[in-house]
Amino acid sequence: MSDTIAAIATPPGRSAIGVVRLSGDDAADILARVFYPKRARFVSHRMEYGTVKHNGADVDEVMAVVMRAPRSYTREDCAEIYTHGGTAALRGVLNAVLANGARPAAPGEFTQRAFLNGRIDLTQAEAVMDIINAKTETARAAGLKMLGGGLSGKIKLFRDTVLKWLAHIELSIDYPEHESEAMNRAVILSEAAPLIEEINRLQATSKLGRIITDGIRTAIIGRPNVGKSSLLNAMLSEDRAIVTEIPGTTRDILTEPVNIHGIPLVLSDTAGIHATEDVIERRGIDKAIAQAEAAALVLFVADASQPPADADREILEKVAHKQVIVVLNKYDKPRAAGWDEVIEGFPGAVSISAKNLTGLDELSEAIRVRCMAGLEDASLEADIITRERHGWLLSQAALSLRRAEDALTGGVPEDLVSVDLREAYRQLGEIIGEEVSDDIVDRIFSEFCVGK
Ligand code: GDP
Repeated sequence: MSDTIAAIATPPGRSAIGVVRLSGDDAADILARVFYPKRARFVSHRMEYGTVKHNGADVDEVMAVVMRAPRSYTREDCAEIYTHGGTAALRGVLNAVLANGARPAAPGEFTQRAFLNGRIDLTQAEAVMDIINAKTETARAAGLKMLGGGLSGKIKLFRDTVLKWLAHIELSIDYPEHESEAMNRAVILSEAAPLIEEINRLQATSKLGRIITDGIRTAIIGRPNVGKSSLLNAMLSEDRAIVTEIPGTTRDILTEPVNIHGIPLVLSDTAGIHATEDVIERRGIDKAIAQAEAAALVLFVADASQPPADADREILEKVAHKQVIVVLNKYDKPRAAGWDEVIEGFPGAVSISAKNLTGLDELSEAIRVRCMAGLEDASLEADIITRERHGWLLSQAALSLRRAEDALTGGVPEDLVSVDLREAYRQLGEIIGEEVSDDIVDRIFSEFCVGK
Protein backbone atom coordinates (compact mmCIF):
# COMPACT_ATOMS: atom_id res chain seq x y z
CA MET A 1 0.00 0.00 0.00
CA SER A 2 2.73 2.49 0.87
CA ASP A 3 6.39 2.64 -0.10
CA THR A 4 8.87 2.65 2.72
CA ILE A 5 10.60 5.87 3.65
CA ALA A 6 13.74 6.34 5.70
CA ALA A 7 15.59 9.26 7.24
CA ILE A 8 18.03 10.23 9.93
CA ALA A 9 15.82 11.48 12.76
CA THR A 10 18.45 13.07 14.99
CA PRO A 11 20.24 16.39 14.44
CA PRO A 12 23.50 16.53 12.48
CA GLY A 13 26.81 16.65 14.30
CA ARG A 14 28.45 14.58 17.02
CA SER A 15 26.17 12.95 19.55
CA ALA A 16 25.99 9.93 21.80
CA ILE A 17 23.39 8.12 19.73
CA GLY A 18 21.61 8.73 16.47
CA VAL A 19 18.39 7.34 15.08
CA VAL A 20 17.50 6.19 11.59
CA ARG A 21 13.80 5.81 11.16
CA LEU A 22 11.75 3.82 8.64
CA SER A 23 8.06 3.74 7.88
CA GLY A 24 6.07 1.75 5.36
CA ASP A 25 5.05 -1.78 4.41
CA ASP A 26 8.60 -3.04 4.02
CA ALA A 27 10.06 -1.40 7.14
CA ALA A 28 10.51 -4.69 8.99
CA ASP A 29 11.79 -6.57 5.92
CA ILE A 30 14.32 -3.89 5.09
CA LEU A 31 15.50 -3.92 8.68
CA ALA A 32 15.87 -7.69 8.48
CA ARG A 33 18.02 -7.32 5.37
CA VAL A 34 20.57 -5.03 7.03
CA PHE A 35 20.34 -5.91 10.71
CA TYR A 36 21.95 -9.01 12.18
CA PRO A 37 20.46 -9.51 15.62
CA LYS A 38 22.27 -11.31 18.41
CA ARG A 39 19.02 -13.05 19.30
CA ALA A 40 16.54 -14.86 17.12
CA ARG A 41 13.37 -12.91 16.41
CA PHE A 42 11.77 -9.52 16.68
CA VAL A 43 8.83 -8.87 18.94
CA SER A 44 6.96 -5.65 18.13
CA HIS A 45 7.98 -2.71 20.28
CA ARG A 46 10.92 -4.56 21.78
CA MET A 47 14.50 -3.42 21.31
CA GLU A 48 17.02 -5.83 19.88
CA TYR A 49 20.77 -5.60 19.96
CA GLY A 50 22.79 -6.42 16.83
CA THR A 51 24.90 -5.22 13.94
CA VAL A 52 24.01 -3.37 10.75
CA LYS A 53 25.88 -4.79 7.75
CA HIS A 54 26.07 -3.48 4.23
CA ASN A 55 27.74 -5.25 1.32
CA GLY A 56 29.21 -7.75 3.75
CA ALA A 57 30.88 -5.12 5.93
CA ASP A 58 29.87 -4.10 9.46
CA VAL A 59 28.47 -0.56 9.50
CA ASP A 60 27.70 -0.11 13.20
CA GLU A 61 26.71 -1.90 16.35
CA VAL A 62 23.14 -0.83 17.05
CA MET A 63 19.86 -1.31 18.87
CA ALA A 64 16.82 -1.74 16.66
CA VAL A 65 13.09 -1.92 17.15
CA VAL A 66 10.13 -2.79 14.98
CA MET A 67 6.76 -1.21 15.73
CA ARG A 68 4.00 -3.05 13.95
CA ALA A 69 1.02 -1.18 12.53
CA PRO A 70 -1.17 0.32 13.77
CA ARG A 71 0.70 0.88 17.05
CA SER A 72 3.27 3.28 15.63
CA TYR A 73 3.81 6.97 14.99
CA THR A 74 2.58 6.72 11.40
CA ARG A 75 0.14 3.82 11.94
CA GLU A 76 2.27 1.92 9.44
CA ASP A 77 4.92 -0.66 10.22
CA CYS A 78 7.86 1.33 11.53
CA ALA A 79 11.43 0.54 12.40
CA GLU A 80 14.07 2.53 14.22
CA ILE A 81 17.77 1.87 14.36
CA TYR A 82 19.78 3.45 17.18
CA THR A 83 23.33 3.92 16.02
CA HIS A 84 26.36 5.50 17.56
CA GLY A 85 26.03 9.23 17.04
CA GLY A 86 27.91 11.11 14.40
CA THR A 87 27.47 11.55 10.71
CA ALA A 88 29.44 8.52 9.48
CA ALA A 89 27.52 5.85 11.42
CA LEU A 90 24.15 7.42 10.65
CA ARG A 91 24.91 7.89 6.96
CA GLY A 92 26.21 4.34 6.74
CA VAL A 93 23.04 2.91 8.26
CA LEU A 94 20.79 5.15 6.18
CA ASN A 95 22.65 4.12 3.01
CA ALA A 96 22.22 0.47 3.96
CA VAL A 97 18.44 0.77 4.28
CA LEU A 98 18.20 2.91 1.15
CA ALA A 99 20.14 0.27 -0.77
CA ASN A 100 17.69 -2.32 0.50
CA GLY A 101 14.41 -0.89 -0.65
CA ALA A 102 13.63 2.28 1.33
CA ARG A 103 13.56 5.72 -0.25
CA PRO A 104 14.58 9.01 1.39
CA ALA A 105 11.74 10.64 3.32
CA ALA A 106 10.61 14.17 2.48
CA PRO A 107 10.47 16.81 5.26
CA GLY A 108 7.69 15.97 7.69
CA GLU A 109 6.72 12.85 5.77
CA PHE A 110 6.43 10.63 8.85
CA THR A 111 4.06 13.09 10.50
CA GLN A 112 2.26 13.58 7.19
CA ARG A 113 1.61 9.84 7.07
CA ALA A 114 0.34 9.96 10.66
CA PHE A 115 -2.09 12.63 9.47
CA LEU A 116 -3.09 10.86 6.25
CA ASN A 117 -3.65 7.61 8.17
CA GLY A 118 -5.98 9.40 10.56
CA ARG A 119 -3.84 9.04 13.67
CA ILE A 120 -3.72 12.81 14.19
CA ASP A 121 -5.52 15.71 12.57
CA LEU A 122 -3.87 18.71 11.01
CA THR A 123 -3.84 20.87 14.15
CA GLN A 124 -2.12 18.03 15.99
CA ALA A 125 0.48 17.67 13.24
CA GLU A 126 1.10 21.40 13.45
CA ALA A 127 1.36 21.01 17.22
CA VAL A 128 4.17 18.48 16.76
CA MET A 129 6.06 21.11 14.81
CA ASP A 130 5.28 23.80 17.39
CA ILE A 131 6.68 21.60 20.15
CA ILE A 132 9.85 20.96 18.15
CA ASN A 133 10.24 24.68 17.49
CA ALA A 134 9.20 25.84 20.96
CA LYS A 135 11.71 28.18 22.52
CA THR A 136 9.91 28.70 25.79
CA GLU A 137 8.08 26.65 28.33
CA THR A 138 4.85 28.52 27.49
CA ALA A 139 5.14 27.76 23.78
CA ARG A 140 5.85 24.11 24.51
CA ALA A 141 2.82 23.91 26.82
CA ALA A 142 0.58 25.51 24.19
CA GLY A 143 1.86 23.02 21.59
CA LEU A 144 1.29 20.07 23.88
CA LYS A 145 -2.24 21.26 24.56
CA MET A 146 -2.96 21.46 20.84
CA LEU A 147 -1.41 18.00 20.36
CA GLY A 148 -3.84 16.73 22.98
CA GLY A 149 -6.67 17.74 20.66
CA GLY A 150 -8.04 20.68 22.63
CA LEU A 151 -8.34 22.93 19.61
CA SER A 152 -9.68 20.27 17.26
CA GLY A 153 -12.31 19.34 19.84
CA LYS A 154 -13.56 22.92 19.86
CA ILE A 155 -13.55 23.16 16.07
CA LYS A 156 -15.48 19.90 15.77
CA LEU A 157 -18.18 21.23 18.12
CA PHE A 158 -18.46 24.41 16.03
CA ARG A 159 -18.78 22.31 12.89
CA ASP A 160 -21.42 20.04 14.41
CA THR A 161 -23.56 23.08 15.17
CA VAL A 162 -23.20 24.46 11.65
CA LEU A 163 -23.95 21.02 10.21
CA LYS A 164 -27.13 20.79 12.27
CA TRP A 165 -28.33 24.13 10.88
CA LEU A 166 -27.43 23.02 7.37
CA ALA A 167 -29.50 19.87 7.84
CA HIS A 168 -32.53 21.96 8.92
CA ILE A 169 -32.12 24.36 6.03
CA GLU A 170 -31.66 21.62 3.44
CA LEU A 171 -34.65 19.79 4.81
CA SER A 172 -36.86 22.80 4.34
CA ILE A 173 -35.48 23.27 0.83
CA ASP A 174 -36.20 19.64 -0.11
CA TYR A 175 -39.47 19.25 1.79
CA PRO A 176 -40.95 22.71 2.22
CA GLU A 177 -44.20 21.13 3.45
CA HIS A 178 -42.46 19.29 6.32
CA GLU A 179 -41.09 22.01 8.44
CA SER A 180 -42.21 25.48 9.31
CA GLU A 181 -39.65 27.69 7.65
CA ALA A 182 -40.09 30.57 10.08
CA MET A 183 -39.29 28.33 13.01
CA ASN A 184 -36.08 27.08 11.47
CA ARG A 185 -34.90 30.57 10.91
CA ALA A 186 -35.68 31.63 14.46
CA VAL A 187 -33.85 28.67 15.97
CA ILE A 188 -30.78 29.17 13.83
CA LEU A 189 -30.73 32.90 14.45
CA SER A 190 -30.90 32.42 18.19
CA GLU A 191 -27.93 30.07 18.11
CA ALA A 192 -25.84 31.92 15.53
CA ALA A 193 -24.87 34.96 17.58
CA PRO A 194 -23.35 32.98 20.48
CA LEU A 195 -21.45 30.72 18.08
CA ILE A 196 -20.02 33.66 16.15
CA GLU A 197 -19.02 35.24 19.43
CA GLU A 198 -17.29 32.08 20.57
CA ILE A 199 -15.39 31.79 17.30
CA ASN A 200 -14.33 35.42 17.54
CA ARG A 201 -13.20 34.91 21.13
CA LEU A 202 -11.03 31.97 20.10
CA GLN A 203 -9.69 33.95 17.18
CA ALA A 204 -8.79 36.80 19.51
CA THR A 205 -6.36 34.55 21.40
CA SER A 206 -4.11 34.60 18.35
CA LYS A 207 -2.60 37.86 19.56
CA LEU A 208 -1.45 36.07 22.69
CA GLY A 209 -0.48 33.10 20.56
CA ARG A 210 1.83 35.22 18.48
CA ILE A 211 3.46 36.58 21.62
CA ILE A 212 3.96 33.06 22.93
CA THR A 213 5.49 31.68 19.76
CA ASP A 214 7.48 34.60 18.46
CA GLY A 215 8.25 36.53 21.64
CA ILE A 216 8.05 40.29 21.99
CA ARG A 217 10.83 42.19 20.29
CA THR A 218 12.23 44.34 23.05
CA ALA A 219 14.84 47.06 22.95
CA ILE A 220 16.73 48.19 26.03
CA ILE A 221 17.82 51.71 25.23
CA GLY A 222 19.30 54.68 27.03
CA ARG A 223 22.39 56.82 27.29
CA PRO A 224 25.80 55.27 27.87
CA ASN A 225 26.54 54.06 31.41
CA VAL A 226 22.97 54.19 32.69
CA GLY A 227 23.00 50.43 33.29
CA LYS A 228 21.55 48.81 30.15
CA SER A 229 23.99 45.90 30.16
CA SER A 230 23.55 45.46 33.88
CA LEU A 231 19.78 45.27 33.41
CA LEU A 232 20.15 42.82 30.56
CA ASN A 233 22.35 40.57 32.68
CA ALA A 234 19.93 40.83 35.58
CA MET A 235 17.06 39.76 33.32
CA LEU A 236 19.03 36.88 31.88
CA SER A 237 19.91 35.53 35.30
CA GLU A 238 16.32 35.94 36.53
CA ASP A 239 15.14 33.79 33.66
CA ARG A 240 15.45 30.22 34.79
CA ALA A 241 14.87 28.90 31.30
CA ILE A 242 16.15 25.46 30.43
CA VAL A 243 18.75 26.55 27.92
CA THR A 244 20.92 28.53 30.28
CA GLU A 245 21.11 25.80 32.86
CA ILE A 246 22.68 23.22 30.59
CA PRO A 247 26.42 23.61 31.08
CA GLY A 248 28.30 24.34 27.91
CA THR A 249 25.39 25.92 26.10
CA THR A 250 25.51 29.60 25.47
CA ARG A 251 22.32 31.43 24.88
CA ASP A 252 22.00 33.57 21.84
CA ILE A 253 20.33 36.63 23.30
CA LEU A 254 19.54 37.95 19.85
CA THR A 255 17.14 35.18 18.91
CA GLU A 256 16.37 33.21 22.07
CA PRO A 257 13.62 34.76 24.14
CA VAL A 258 14.14 35.68 27.77
CA ASN A 259 11.25 34.42 29.83
CA ILE A 260 9.70 37.15 32.00
CA HIS A 261 6.85 35.67 34.04
CA GLY A 262 5.91 33.42 31.13
CA ILE A 263 6.21 36.19 28.56
CA PRO A 264 9.05 35.64 26.13
CA LEU A 265 11.01 38.76 25.24
CA VAL A 266 13.39 38.73 22.33
CA LEU A 267 15.96 41.33 23.31
CA SER A 268 17.70 43.42 20.70
CA ASP A 269 21.46 43.63 20.63
CA THR A 270 21.55 46.53 23.07
CA ALA A 271 24.05 44.65 25.14
CA GLY A 272 26.46 44.98 22.27
CA ILE A 273 26.56 48.73 22.55
CA HIS A 274 29.19 49.45 25.12
CA ALA A 275 29.91 52.75 26.68
CA THR A 276 33.24 52.94 24.92
CA GLU A 277 31.56 52.58 21.54
CA ASP A 278 29.21 55.37 22.39
CA VAL A 279 31.82 58.05 22.76
CA ILE A 280 30.02 60.14 20.24
CA GLU A 281 26.77 60.89 22.03
CA ARG A 282 24.92 61.71 18.81
CA ARG A 283 25.55 58.31 17.34
CA GLY A 284 24.37 56.66 20.54
CA ILE A 285 21.08 58.52 20.50
CA ASP A 286 20.39 57.70 16.85
CA LYS A 287 21.19 54.06 17.45
CA ALA A 288 18.84 53.93 20.44
CA ILE A 289 16.00 55.45 18.46
CA ALA A 290 16.55 53.11 15.53
CA GLN A 291 16.46 50.12 17.87
CA ALA A 292 13.29 51.35 19.49
CA GLU A 293 11.66 51.70 16.08
CA ALA A 294 12.23 48.06 15.29
CA ALA A 295 10.92 46.87 18.65
CA ALA A 296 7.42 46.24 19.96
CA LEU A 297 8.42 47.06 23.52
CA VAL A 298 10.97 49.64 24.63
CA LEU A 299 12.68 49.63 28.00
CA PHE A 300 14.10 53.12 28.37
CA VAL A 301 16.79 53.01 31.03
CA ALA A 302 17.97 56.13 32.81
CA ASP A 303 20.47 56.81 35.57
CA ALA A 304 18.12 58.48 38.03
CA SER A 305 20.95 59.35 40.41
CA GLN A 306 21.95 61.97 37.85
CA PRO A 307 19.74 64.83 36.73
CA PRO A 308 18.07 64.20 33.38
CA ALA A 309 20.24 65.10 30.40
CA ASP A 310 19.08 66.60 27.14
CA ALA A 311 19.80 63.25 25.50
CA ASP A 312 17.38 61.52 27.92
CA ARG A 313 14.65 63.96 26.98
CA GLU A 314 15.40 63.65 23.28
CA ILE A 315 15.36 59.85 23.23
CA LEU A 316 12.14 59.69 25.26
CA GLU A 317 10.42 62.20 23.05
CA LYS A 318 11.38 60.34 19.88
CA VAL A 319 10.19 56.95 21.15
CA ALA A 320 7.06 58.22 22.89
CA HIS A 321 4.78 56.70 20.22
CA LYS A 322 6.03 53.19 21.06
CA GLN A 323 5.15 50.98 24.03
CA VAL A 324 7.66 52.45 26.47
CA ILE A 325 8.45 51.47 30.03
CA VAL A 326 10.70 53.98 31.76
CA VAL A 327 13.23 52.22 33.97
CA LEU A 328 14.80 54.53 36.53
CA ASN A 329 17.98 52.73 37.42
CA LYS A 330 20.52 53.11 40.22
CA TYR A 331 17.76 53.34 42.77
CA ASP A 332 20.33 52.35 45.41
CA LYS A 333 21.60 55.92 45.16
CA PRO A 334 19.62 59.07 46.00
CA ARG A 335 17.28 60.21 43.26
CA ALA A 336 18.33 63.39 41.45
CA ALA A 337 15.78 66.14 40.90
CA GLY A 338 13.97 66.68 37.63
CA TRP A 339 12.86 63.15 36.68
CA ASP A 340 9.20 63.49 37.61
CA GLU A 341 8.72 66.12 34.96
CA VAL A 342 10.62 64.12 32.30
CA ILE A 343 8.66 60.91 32.78
CA GLU A 344 5.31 62.66 32.91
CA GLY A 345 3.18 61.06 30.24
CA PHE A 346 4.92 57.69 30.65
CA PRO A 347 2.76 55.86 33.15
CA GLY A 348 4.12 52.86 35.02
CA ALA A 349 7.73 53.96 35.39
CA VAL A 350 9.69 51.51 37.51
CA SER A 351 12.58 52.21 39.87
CA ILE A 352 15.20 49.50 39.98
CA SER A 353 18.76 48.84 40.92
CA ALA A 354 20.29 46.61 38.29
CA LYS A 355 23.34 46.37 40.48
CA ASN A 356 21.56 45.22 43.65
CA LEU A 357 18.86 43.33 41.72
CA THR A 358 16.02 45.24 43.36
CA GLY A 359 12.82 46.30 41.62
CA LEU A 360 13.06 43.54 39.01
CA ASP A 361 9.76 41.97 40.06
CA GLU A 362 8.04 45.32 39.66
CA LEU A 363 9.63 45.61 36.23
CA SER A 364 8.43 42.13 35.24
CA GLU A 365 4.96 43.01 36.40
CA ALA A 366 5.03 46.26 34.42
CA ILE A 367 6.10 44.31 31.34
CA ARG A 368 3.33 41.78 31.89
CA VAL A 369 0.68 44.48 32.31
CA ARG A 370 1.90 46.31 29.22
CA CYS A 371 2.15 43.27 26.97
CA MET A 372 -1.08 41.68 28.09
CA ALA A 373 -3.09 44.87 27.69
CA GLY A 374 -6.36 43.91 26.03
CA LEU A 375 -5.61 40.23 26.63
CA GLU A 376 -6.98 40.05 30.17
CA ASP A 377 -9.51 37.46 29.07
CA ALA A 378 -6.93 35.24 27.50
CA SER A 379 -5.43 32.73 29.83
CA LEU A 380 -2.34 30.69 29.20
CA GLU A 381 -4.32 27.67 30.35
CA ALA A 382 -7.01 28.07 27.70
CA ASP A 383 -6.79 26.95 24.08
CA ILE A 384 -4.71 29.54 22.31
CA ILE A 385 -4.47 30.07 18.57
CA THR A 386 -0.75 30.00 17.85
CA ARG A 387 -0.88 29.67 14.09
CA GLU A 388 -1.82 32.35 11.62
CA ARG A 389 -3.51 29.74 9.44
CA HIS A 390 -5.96 28.89 12.21
CA GLY A 391 -6.64 32.51 13.11
CA TRP A 392 -7.32 33.42 9.52
CA LEU A 393 -9.69 30.50 8.91
CA LEU A 394 -11.57 31.28 12.14
CA SER A 395 -12.10 34.88 11.09
CA GLN A 396 -13.24 33.73 7.64
CA ALA A 397 -15.68 31.26 9.18
CA ALA A 398 -17.06 33.98 11.45
CA LEU A 399 -17.60 36.19 8.37
CA SER A 400 -19.42 33.42 6.51
CA LEU A 401 -21.65 32.84 9.52
CA ARG A 402 -22.31 36.55 9.81
CA ARG A 403 -23.40 36.55 6.15
CA ALA A 404 -25.68 33.59 6.78
CA GLU A 405 -27.13 35.41 9.79
CA ASP A 406 -27.80 38.53 7.69
CA ALA A 407 -29.39 36.45 4.97
CA LEU A 408 -31.67 34.76 7.47
CA THR A 409 -32.72 38.07 8.98
CA GLY A 410 -33.23 39.60 5.56
CA GLY A 411 -35.47 36.79 4.37
CA VAL A 412 -33.11 35.63 1.64
CA PRO A 413 -34.04 32.23 0.16
CA GLU A 414 -32.77 29.11 1.94
CA ASP A 415 -30.45 27.94 -0.77
CA LEU A 416 -28.44 31.15 -0.49
CA VAL A 417 -28.21 30.81 3.30
CA SER A 418 -27.04 27.28 2.75
CA VAL A 419 -24.14 28.50 0.58
CA ASP A 420 -22.74 30.61 3.44
CA LEU A 421 -23.24 27.86 5.99
CA ARG A 422 -21.43 25.39 3.76
CA GLU A 423 -18.60 27.87 3.39
CA ALA A 424 -18.27 28.24 7.17
CA TYR A 425 -18.36 24.47 7.57
CA ARG A 426 -15.58 24.08 5.01
CA GLN A 427 -13.43 26.84 6.53
CA LEU A 428 -13.68 25.30 9.98
CA GLY A 429 -12.90 21.90 8.48
CA GLU A 430 -9.79 23.24 6.86
CA ILE A 431 -8.36 24.00 10.31
CA ILE A 432 -8.43 20.38 11.37
CA GLY A 433 -7.41 19.14 7.94
CA GLU A 434 -10.72 18.00 6.57
CA GLU A 435 -11.57 19.55 3.23
CA VAL A 436 -8.07 20.84 2.90
CA SER A 437 -6.34 20.80 -0.47
CA ASP A 438 -3.28 18.66 -1.10
CA ASP A 439 -1.00 21.59 -1.81
CA ILE A 440 -1.86 23.19 1.53
CA VAL A 441 -1.09 19.91 3.27
CA ASP A 442 2.20 19.64 1.37
CA ARG A 443 3.10 23.19 2.30
CA ILE A 444 2.42 22.65 5.98
CA PHE A 445 4.52 19.51 6.15
CA SER A 446 7.35 20.98 4.12
CA GLU A 447 8.07 23.28 7.10
CA PHE A 448 9.02 20.21 9.12
CA CYS A 449 12.49 18.80 9.37
CA VAL A 450 13.40 15.59 7.56
CA GLY A 451 12.95 12.62 9.86
CA LYS A 452 9.89 13.96 11.71
P1 GDP B 1 25.34 50.67 29.91
O1 GDP B 1 26.45 51.43 29.27
O2 GDP B 1 24.07 51.42 29.85
O3 GDP B 1 25.19 49.26 29.39
O4 GDP B 1 25.68 50.59 31.47
P2 GDP B 1 26.36 49.40 32.28
O5 GDP B 1 25.39 48.34 32.56
O6 GDP B 1 27.63 49.02 31.64
O7 GDP B 1 26.62 50.15 33.65
C1 GDP B 1 27.41 51.33 33.72
C2 GDP B 1 27.95 51.49 35.12
O8 GDP B 1 26.87 51.71 36.01
C3 GDP B 1 28.67 50.27 35.62
O9 GDP B 1 29.78 50.69 36.37
C4 GDP B 1 27.66 49.60 36.53
O10 GDP B 1 28.25 48.86 37.56
C5 GDP B 1 26.89 50.77 37.08
N1 GDP B 1 25.54 50.41 37.46
C6 GDP B 1 24.62 49.73 36.71
N2 GDP B 1 23.46 49.60 37.38
C7 GDP B 1 23.64 50.20 38.58
C8 GDP B 1 22.80 50.39 39.72
O11 GDP B 1 21.64 49.96 39.78
N3 GDP B 1 23.32 51.09 40.77
C9 GDP B 1 24.61 51.55 40.75
N4 GDP B 1 25.02 52.21 41.81
N5 GDP B 1 25.42 51.40 39.70
C10 GDP B 1 24.96 50.72 38.62
